[in-house]
Amino acid sequence: MAISIAIIGSGPAGFYAADAIQKSIENPIIDIIERLPTPYGLIRGGVAPDHQTTKKVAKKFEKTALAGDIRYFGNVEVGRDLTLDELREIYDVVILAIGAPADRKLTIPGSDKVGVHGSAAFVGWYNGHPDFVELEPDLKINAAMVIGNGNVALDVARLLVRSKSGRAKTDLPLYARDAMDASPIKDVYVLGRRGPQDAKFTNVELREMLDLSECVPVVDPADLSDEMPADMDDRDRRLAEKNLETLRAFSGIDPSGKPKRAHFVFYAQPVEILGGTHVEGIRIERTKVENGRAIGTGVTRDIPCGMVIAAIGYRADPIPGLPYDEALGIIPNDRGRIEQGLYAVGWIKRGPSGVISSSRPDGIEVAEHIAADFAAGGTRPGRDRLAELLAERGVRVVHFEDWQRLEKTEIDRASGPQPRHKFTDVADMIDHLEGRK
Ligand SMILES: Cc1cc2nc3c(=O)[nH]c(=O)nc-3n(C[C@H](O)[C@H](O)[C@H](O)COP(=O)(O)OP(=O)(O)OC[C@H]3O[C@@H](n4cnc5c(N)ncnc54)[C@H](O)[C@@H]3O)c2cc1C
Repeated sequence: MAISIAIIGSGPAGFYAADAIQKSIENPIIDIIERLPTPYGLIRGGVAPDHQTTKKVAKKFEKTALAGDIRYFGNVEVGRDLTLDELREIYDVVILAIGAPADRKLTIPGSDKVGVHGSAAFVGWYNGHPDFVELEPDLKINAAMVIGNGNVALDVARLLVRSKSGRAKTDLPLYARDAMDASPIKDVYVLGRRGPQDAKFTNVELREMLDLSECVPVVDPADLSDEMPADMDDRDRRLAEKNLETLRAFSGIDPSGKPKRAHFVFYAQPVEILGGTHVEGIRIERTKVENGRAIGTGVTRDIPCGMVIAAIGYRADPIPGLPYDEALGIIPNDRGRIEQGLYAVGWIKRGPSGVISSSRPDGIEVAEHIAADFAAGGTRPGRDRLAELLAERGVRVVHFEDWQRLEKTEIDRASGPQPRHKFTDVADMIDHLEGRK
């Protein structure tokens, strides 16, 4: 009998797994189960709205969704609408592709002040993720601090200082675009505990800071030493050298040349968020790197700012009934295999790092496990039983053809250079599909 496969999560990892299984296993029946009505995980809800070319990878996943025996069950959350155990009873194979959606929290004094946000929440807000539309960050501020030295920190900083015309070409939801356009923000700081050699920015994203029409990047040339960590591999060294070259170009730019500034502050760690109930500033401490570790020097300075975004990483939440690796924030697995019939791909398997395509090999690996573990084929009912169960529970499943209708509306109702006008509320999406709106 055909193997019935449930993939939980429709981000890149879920789709790469579906694609790999389809290509290597005979006639699999694959159901992709997604808690939101909308597919594609962080491609829709994480990748920056001004990076539309990157978001186009979704078209490739659309092809996968429409090929072979794949059915999309959107608006179905495992843990809310049915349990993982139930799913495992119904399907031969269950693949966790649920990502790592939670923020790693900032824990310094003052982190609970109004105006401190994790990047998952802030990025979710500006991408119209239904979980975060109500964040409503106060952008009536002159300066913001972004803590972190990865691409997410760059995305946040860049969007805050982009011009209105630059933002008009994005799919920022109107509430976020209006708030950003109306913001008097002039200075954004990007803070790294270590030096530029250790920054995780990709060079293309860093160089993009040179192309902003209203903002200049600023860096202290004293922080740009050529010294590389001794244990660095060749690939990291090449990236670090390119980034240093780009930062040197930043250091030669007149900071008053454009109305806004993005300050790159290296060798500094946050020690306290200042202010009353609201953020009014941040105290940072100069660090030095010794034996690969950043340690405080006791020299502090205060930077006035009205918002702090902690872009210091993501983590997965534990799943009831499954082991959890607290340190790595993943479900422990052996190259994607948790146990016979249960597998993991993407960020829940590897931890929250890497680009979209980094999840591709995970899918191939899992397809190999399934081929080996289910050489005799499958035995469980899969799809029909799932559909029955969800109908019994009154769940309004959003199938792929429903999503295509939502997407068409998003594109049709966009205005000017806006690529799409997103739905950001689940009830609105269902109302639209039911013809109520
Ligand atoms: C802010 C940000 C910007 C990024 N920008 C880029 C970029 O420009 N270029 C690039 O290459 N990479 C980028 N990345 C990295 C890339 O997005 C990730 O590598 C990739 O999305 C990880 O894929 P995933 O499928 O493991 O997780 P996700 O993309 O998070 O997908 C997980 C999916 O599972 C669903 N889900 C979770 N729990 C459940 C449940 N219980 N039931 C049903 N469904 C569930 C979620 O709703 C989600 O759709 C970015 C990441 C972030 C955070």
